Amino acid sequence: MAVRVFHTGRVEVVVPARTPPRAIESFLARHRTWIERKREEARLKAVPPVPFPPQRIELAACGELWRLHLAGGPGRARVAPGGGGLLVLCGDAGDRRAVREALRCWLMQRARQILSPWLSECARELGFEYRRVAVRRQRTRWGSCSTRGTISLNCCLLFQPAAVVRYLMIHELAHTRHMNHSRQFWQCVAQHCPQYRRLDQQLLEGWRVVPSWVSGEQGG
Ligand SMILES: [Zn+2]
Repeated sequence: MAVRVFHTGRVEVVVPARTPPRAIESFLARHRTWIERKREEARLKAVPPVPFPPQRIELAACGELWRLHLAGGPGRARVAPGGGGLLVLCGDAGDRRAVREALRCWLMQRARQILSPWLSECARELGFEYRRVAVRRQRTRWGSCSTRGTISLNCCLLFQPAAVVRYLMIHELAHTRHMNHSRQFWQCVAQHCPQYRRLDQQLLEGWRVVPSWVSGEQGG
């Protein structure tokens, strides 16, 4: 028998077929203290639920703070930038799925506007060449570089500090010369970004600052 406590506080007990109920009860009694402790830990660690639609969207990479204004009105939810850092959400704000899609669509657009020229500037400044840039919303990768010289950047980079984004760009640009993580590759990275170790670590933990409406399977 095995017992597991999920981060939501849900308890799962795995029991072999035909185990007598009495055996399960005594198993649970033996592990009660442990289960209670784990549930308490999960409760303390739980992130407070973020309201959805989000009231504000902070893009650390470019220092932008957007406030979401629910304008209402008929039709499917859609998002358009207004003046003064206002993001206007028109249409049915109750359709969570449509709101999430609209926000993601806006984020992708903003990521293309910000990350593409930034990469090009970075390459020019440091003397790298690449063929094409693509902005994507990948689940697990921050960026990649293909053998044909296409650099992909994750739109979630917008939530990371500028120094981290710049490191990732240098990392992918260095792959245009070294298609591996060899010593020469890291030397190339270090030459343009001496603090690369710390920034790489920060990037690894960077998923935590990505709002769930961007990364999550469902809205909210
Ligand atoms: Zn790499």
